[in-house]
Amino acid sequence: MKEIKIERPIFPKKTVITAGMPYGNKELHFGHIGGVFVHADTFARFLRDRIGNENVIFVSGTDCYGSPISASYLKLVEEDQYEGSIQDYVRKNHEKQKEVLSKYEMSLNLYAASALDRAGEVHKEVSKEIFNKLYEDGYLVKLSSPQFYDSDFKVLLNGRQVVGKCPIEGCNSDKAYADECALGHQYMPNELIEPKSALSGKTPELRDVTNWYFKLEEYNNTLIEKVNYLRDNSNWRKNLLNTIEEFLKPPVIYVKRKQLEGIINLEEKLPKHTVIDEQKNLLLLSYLKIYKIGIVQEKYLMISEFVLELVKH
Ligand SMILES: [Zn+2]
Repeated sequence: MKEIKIERPIFPKKTVITAGMPYGNKELHFGHIGGVFVHADTFARFLRDRIGNENVIFVSGTDCYGSPISASYLKLVEEDQYEGSIQDYVRKNHEKQKEVLSKYEMSLNLYAASALDRAGEVHKEVSKEIFNKLYEDGYLVKLSSPQFYDSDFKVLLNGRQVVGKCPIEGCNSDKAYADECALGHQYMPNELIEPKSALSGKTPELRDVTNWYFKLEEYNNTLIEKVNYLRDNSNWRKNLLNTIEEFLKPPVIYVKRKQLEGIINLEEKLPKHTVIDEQKNLLLLSYLKIYKIGIVQEKYLMISEFVLELVKH
């Protein structure tokens, strides 16, 4: 009889298991429990059984940062349904989330909140350390871009909180946001026709806002090497690695051959780019999504997002 050899699984000595972090603007529904926590909990229990309770940490928590939270909060306040501070609001939701997870007997070692109590302090310290290190070593650059401001609510509005009419000739879409219309036309915020704030319904001001940006280009190769290393030496999900790789590729603009003439006329006005002739299509390799504000978005990665991602994972 032929002998079948089955390899035994190798377990890690110590492990940290995480489950997705729900936003602090809501309570949990069954989709969160059944779709996110049950799998992680099962895995945590299984590993505790194999490598010992003391070697497994199962951790998750409330994500306290993100525009959906302030949007939900402002809406409730506006409708006179909530009176407390935004901190109170997030804490209330966090406590409810925690309670539900405990009722479902999720075996979490820690369910904290990224802006509250000790976890909040750690989050702040770690973020500060990363920012300072990047700043001291010269990896950051300061850039300004115009952004809409609602003076009634005293807040800067995100792209979706401003609606007007598309300025692109012949479009007339009235579902045009700060720099992009529903049909995908892109423009500068100051070109948007009749902009209205989704919060106050009034015409918002345009203010120059300065942000710190990370010089992504300079670290592109290092990051690509890192992705390749993970591909060969880890069990990271392939589609995740593909997404990161896609993101690190230089931006390109495809131009139809029949529109070539227009582009040749524009050639001098375009920023530094490489032209690749792909036979069927002409491929323009450029660092711009659109040649007005694109530079900021394509050349640099906005620092806040970068740091938040680093802190999260
Ligand atoms: Zn449009």
